[in-house]
Amino acid sequence: MTAPIPSQRRALPILSSDEIGALKPALADVIEYRKSGLSLNWIVGCPLECGYCVRHLFDNFGMKSPRRLMSDEAAVAALVSHEYFRPHTTPLQLLNRATDPMLPVVKPHLFTVLRHLDDQGLTNHVLIITRWRTTAEDCALLNSFQHLRLTVLVTHSGIDNPSIEPVDSAIAARSLRTLHEHAERYRTVLYWRPVVPGLNDSDAHLERARELSHHAHATVFTGLFFRNEIKAYYETHGLPMPYEATARRKIMPEAAEQRILDTFHKGDSWGALFRKTSCGVAYAHGEADYNGHFGIRELCDICPEEQIARCQAAWDKPEPTTVTEEARRVGATGVVEVTDRAIVVEGLDEPPRYFLQHGFGYQCHDRAKPHHYRRHGRASIGWPAENGPQPG
Ligand code: SF4
Repeated sequence: MTAPIPSQRRALPILSSDEIGALKPALADVIEYRKSGLSLNWIVGCPLECGYCVRHLFDNFGMKSPRRLMSDEAAVAALVSHEYFRPHTTPLQLLNRATDPMLPVVKPHLFTVLRHLDDQGLTNHVLIITRWRTTAEDCALLNSFQHLRLTVLVTHSGIDNPSIEPVDSAIAARSLRTLHEHAERYRTVLYWRPVVPGLNDSDAHLERARELSHHAHATVFTGLFFRNEIKAYYETHGLPMPYEATARRKIMPEAAEQRILDTFHKGDSWGALFRKTSCGVAYAHGEADYNGHFGIRELCDICPEEQIARCQAAWDKPEPTTVTEEARRVGATGVVEVTDRAIVVEGLDEPPRYFLQHGFGYQCHDRAKPHHYRRHGRASIGWPAENGPQPG
């Protein structure tokens, strides 16, 4: 049965072309291919004011009222006609960059787009990330989508310094419980992030996360994106500096990771825990990881046995000639290699690499940016230098 989408007195206004022209081009571009999926961001603006928000990177942090860049229907059309969109295969993300999808003024638009995608019979994974309130009525709507493989990831950091994170983490904790309690067709993941040593990794914080993990189909923990723009915001506002240096990748120091693993694996009462978003999402749906992380075997040492078996069964080293053809088609230059861990390419930026990765279910790395053993895809801050690049 089709559940009605909540109406709102007034649909969110659509920015004029002049207003869109004044945005940073990366923000005005509504589709971005990210590791967890092809991401559609047709609404920008958020009142929640998390100090570490990626909107700092787009000079958009000051925009507190959400606004649309196009209609919901145009957003769906742009997504399904995108050159990298593959029906039933490409994982999708909605509104994960510049607003919170569950804000009352935003969610009717979220549900409209979900309805359009579902009505097309698409079975793609769809990831929705929120830290805001979710009600039983929202859950009924989320359960009503018949085809999409839907996951709601609830961001919960436990950070209790209101100048860094004004939104009380108790809101996210309540949403997670509500989502878990009502889940039928969708799944919910505890998105435990950003973990910052000294800020939210006390014994009490870790215990709280462990308790919350029982109210989720999976738990994923990650570190902090700490770029120059975010550091500048911290400095201007006199916030305690989480790290001295900034980094291109997320920061998750080895000691903090070990404390998390030690706490979680104490006793036998803990929810399944993952380092990678796609691993948690895949597990929640009883499927193999769509990013092929199984090739990076050391990531799997904390994974439940039945999930390791699933990923092992699905993991298939692709034929080098097929990979080379596909890679050339999207612009790869130089030698294309298929190792036991990943496809290694040159001359491709992230979108075509993710296109190959999601198509083959096998990691795709840039030869110029080697991944390092045990800190796969994370910054070097907090890791000893001897954990050097992994050959192959
Ligand atoms: S087995 Fe490895 S690749 Fe598969 S979900 Fe677990 S950690 Fe991820």
